[in-house]
Amino acid sequence: MHCPFCSAQDTKVIDSRLVTDGHQIRRRRECVDCHERFTTFEFAELVMPRVVKRDGTRDPFNEDKMRAGMQRALEKRPVSTEQIEECIVKLKSALRATGEREVSSEMVGNLIMDALKELDKVAYVRFASVYRSFEDIREFGEEIARLGD
Ligand SMILES: [Zn+2]
Repeated sequence: MHCPFCSAQDTKVIDSRLVTDGHQIRRRRECVDCHERFTTFEFAELVMPRVVKRDGTRDPFNEDKMRAGMQRALEKRPVSTEQIEECIVKLKSALRATGEREVSSEMVGNLIMDALKELDKVAYVRFASVYRSFEDIREFGEEIARLGD
């Protein structure tokens, strides 16, 4: 990276070590030109993308909301809390793995639907019926028909 003092393009790493239990790397750098020293930190970006709703408004990703929606769909179904939590961890990884700062609420909904489809078909149908509303009711009917196969 460029030197923050003289903006020279070349700086060298003179020391590198793990900090905060290995969750960060601290690097001492020295400018090749002016010989000033500075420190940089490197850590994994674990920020969840923001969710863009259909009307264009943005919300921070809300794990509780995701959990509540899934629990509602899974009410009185033979799926353990542990299975739901595992599923949420996977969904969050999938969202982070997009590398995007913003994702559409539609994409989040589709991820949840796919996960529920694996977990419990009844929950999937419940969630899909709420989430997809009536605009593609025919497609939804076809989906239910397919589940019967
Ligand atoms: Zn410099």
